Amino acid sequence: MEKKIKVGVIGATGVVGQNYLRLLQRHPWFEVVHLAASPNSAGKKYADAVAGRWHMNVDIPEAYRNIIVEDASNVSKAVGKCKIIFSAVELDKKAILALEEEYAGKGFAVVSNNSAHRATEDVPVIIPEINHSHLDIIPRQRKKRGWKDGLLVVKPNCSIQSYMLPIFAFIKAGYPIDKMILATLQAVSGAGYPGPASIDLIDNVLPTLAGEEDKSEVEPAKILGRIEGDRIVSDTSIKISAHCNRVAVSDGHIACVSLKFAGKKPGMDEIIGIWRNFSSLPQELKLPAAPVPPIIYRDEPDRPQPRKDRDAGNGMAITVGRLRPCNVLDIRFVGLHHNTVRGAAGGAILTAELLVAKGFVK
Ligand code: NAP
Repeated sequence: MEKKIKVGVIGATGVVGQNYLRLLQRHPWFEVVHLAASPNSAGKKYADAVAGRWHMNVDIPEAYRNIIVEDASNVSKAVGKCKIIFSAVELDKKAILALEEEYAGKGFAVVSNNSAHRATEDVPVIIPEINHSHLDIIPRQRKKRGWKDGLLVVKPNCSIQSYMLPIFAFIKAGYPIDKMILATLQAVSGAGYPGPASIDLIDNVLPTLAGEEDKSEVEPAKILGRIEGDRIVSDTSIKISAHCNRVAVSDGHIACVSLKFAGKKPGMDEIIGIWRNFSSLPQELKLPAAPVPPIIYRDEPDRPQPRKDRDAGNGMAITVGRLRPCNVLDIRFVGLHHNTVRGAAGGAILTAELLVAKGFVK
């Protein structure tokens, strides 16, 4: 790309926002020029706004230290500065709905981490390797809402990536799924900063992630759905039962999955081949953030593990292991992904790259 596309991050001071800055600092297509957060951070230099709460393993990138943080609700501050807005603000749902629509209405391509718009009919919930074709709804979204250049896409909840890619590989290979039972072990960073109190979490597991369980059961249906007119209709053919737990791990969500196929079932060796050979449009287009391969199968009996596997493929690959027959359903396996990279900032960056590659951001 001759000239980089200028982007902004709203919610830039939070856990996900910091991951955006870490991942975008040497991005070949995107240049971060606009940072925004709450009124508490507005007016401060970025380095001062995150003083004492910078959580990344690298220093604050030099290029961002002196950028003055704006108030995210002041949309006009971004106008003329950038074309893409990565949204990682934590606000109540109504306020997010309105704010993200305001940015899109002003001509920005908004890629959001927030859950507020995931149920909105004309807003695609994108995992780039699975439903890249859902971006084709954008012209209809623009027409319906009277947006000329703006658009709004979201990424799914961070709990689902560790099983969505592995099960989509089955569907793509001609093995549809009937039902699935899953238990997630979700890292603390998934709750933002400061997250659960240490006294609740150390020497403990918190089994009370009710909202996450709903999202884990509902969002896959929209991702596997189809465009009808100006809306995306969910495919509810897979029945899902989810248990979500918070564990004392910094980054990296695990899902333990048992599933039943809808018809014929692949053999164990065939399944490993399906995963190892899986590839999709982001890999074909050689998008900068696309992991190659997107699914890594490990046959050691003690993998995947968060500390050892979350950074695979720069935090964008899904690692699966422990494939074995299930005594109740057909098969079981363990999937793992980096929740704040593939499950948040990295997944959104890959989505934005796809938007550019498909010509939706000029
Ligand atoms: P976080 O660490 O709590 O950060 C929240 C961000 O929102 C901060 O930048 C904060 O700014 C900003 N904010 C708070 N109140 C605001 C206001 N009134 N106006 C404008 N900005 C405001 O949260 P996070 O974990 O980064 O999550 C951000 C979003 O991504 C959430 O919607 C979350 O559900 C979603 N998400 C998170 C993950 C994950 O793994 N953590 C994964 C997927 C999706 P100040 O610093 O100025 O307060």
